[in-house]
Amino acid sequence: MKHTDQTVCPYCEGHGYVQLLLGGSETCYGCLGKGTEKEKQTVSEN
Ligand SMILES: [Zn+2]
Repeated sequence: MKHTDQTVCPYCEGHGYVQLLLGGSETCYGCLGKGTEKEKQTVSEN
């Protein structure tokens, strides 16, 4: 098995935006709207 390079953003769960309590939505600050977050620095020897 291979790990995926990106994981679903835990803040927006992959939507790319978050719902605001007051209504509406805002671009996710965790992934900047991408919906995925890069894995933390991985040691890759190339
Ligand atoms: Zn996000």
